[in-house]
Amino acid sequence: MRRCFFFAAWTMLSLLLACGQEAAQTDTTDDTIHIVATTSQIGDIAKNVGGEHAEVNTLMGPGVDPHLYQATQQDMNTLSEADIIFYNGHHLEGNLQEIFHEMSNTTPVYAVAENTPRDLLLSEENSDAVDPHLWFDPNRWKYAVEAVQDGLVALDANNKDAYAENTQEYIEMLEELDTYAKEQLAAVSPESRVLVTAHDAFGYFGDAYDFDVEGLQGLSTDAEYSVRDVNHLVRLLTNRNIKAVFVESSVSERAVNAVIEGARKEGHEVEIGGELYSDAMGEEGTDEGTYEGMFISNIDTIVSSLQ
Ligand SMILES: [Zn+2]
Repeated sequence: MRRCFFFAAWTMLSLLLACGQEAAQTDTTDDTIHIVATTSQIGDIAKNVGGEHAEVNTLMGPGVDPHLYQATQQDMNTLSEADIIFYNGHHLEGNLQEIFHEMSNTTPVYAVAENTPRDLLLSEENSDAVDPHLWFDPNRWKYAVEAVQDGLVALDANNKDAYAENTQEYIEMLEELDTYAKEQLAAVSPESRVLVTAHDAFGYFGDAYDFDVEGLQGLSTDAEYSVRDVNHLVRLLTNRNIKAVFVESSVSERAVNAVIEGARKEGHEVEIGGELYSDAMGEEGTDEGTYEGMFISNIDTIVSSLQ
């Protein structure tokens, strides 16, 4: 009886060990790179640059605000299984900063927007907080694409030619979008080039395409706006006779409605010019669920409301 028990226990142990070994073997033969990206804009780069060699998990879906995002237990599991992590940086994902700092001891972690040269960065007036929304200028966003390429090559040098080719293609797409933006935005007259939105997500866009950009909230959505902020925008809209303001897919409309209401009290009618994708892209499987489609959608919305 006792011998039988030992035999059974030994068999169980061997089985467990065998399973463990098998799992380890599967891991080493699986050469797909498991990438975790925070925002959908970074996920889009990772999918395209990684191509067939990578599988991408994007933490923040459509309509999600990265400034306020908190990691779930599911996210922690996903992150712990990542081969490499790409996030934006410049405090876009303020609540995740510490997690990434911690994880960088064991996993390669890259803040891709921090690869942009300093002299191309914008910061908030009277503050040294850097504007993290670099993806709205395709020329500045190229550096993020290169950061993803660098990360993947460092991890998987065998496929460096494929990554280089995919990077080149992605950068060409960004250059075409820049040309598209310039051509389409030419229809908007200089005096109408004012973009009023819920928060300051479009600073680089404004710098690249010569728009004045005003947000009710600052660079992050984590600070509440004040009556003074509302009044400032109401004055701007009235003085410059601007007819349209924009809502954002990842920020509540409440803030923008306060401005519209304020302008109406002053006798100036303003309408919502449409919804812009700011810190999140559209639903997966739709055109706006890709960087290219999102960018084109924003340009078309701006042109049709302000021309
Ligand atoms: Zn933002």
